[in-house]
Amino acid sequence: MNDGTGGGQSVCMGIGCSKVFDGQASHCPHCGAKAITRDSLRRRGWFLVACGILLLGLMAWVLAYLVPPMLAGGEEVEGSRFTGTQEDVQMIMGVLGAVVVFGLASLASGLIQAIQGVRPRAIIVVMLVLAAGLFAFGMAVRRGLLG
Ligand SMILES: [Zn+2]
Repeated sequence: MNDGTGGGQSVCMGIGCSKVFDGQASHCPHCGAKAITRDSLRRRGWFLVACGILLLGLMAWVLAYLVPPMLAGGEEVEGSRFTGTQEDVQMIMGVLGAVVVFGLASLASGLIQAIQGVRPRAIIVVMLVLAAGLFAFGMAVRRGLLG
């Protein structure tokens, strides 16, 4: 381990490559894609972490505001009344769920990027699968209720 500065290494930004190599080349010697230094990759990582926290915080706030009136089924809760249908609820929850997944992905991949100085390919795949699963689950719920 070095002192954590990256030691003048660069990281390939090419999808499917993501190799770490010595020196500060602007392009990857393996695949020719754009490359950035490990330091700037780490900075981007912290930026992703900040974005993820912001998104999740926003969603927590929105959910705290939206869910009580929705669960109350049209009853007035603290001055606000939810007048949408069950379909509206599903759509809203689907969108919020997608944003939460996106926030988690941003947070998790940002942390890996910031701390390890590598591009987190595995977590991106995991998050894509999660998002696809969430979508499939939403469609299944929808079909179940409608048909
Ligand atoms: Zn490459």
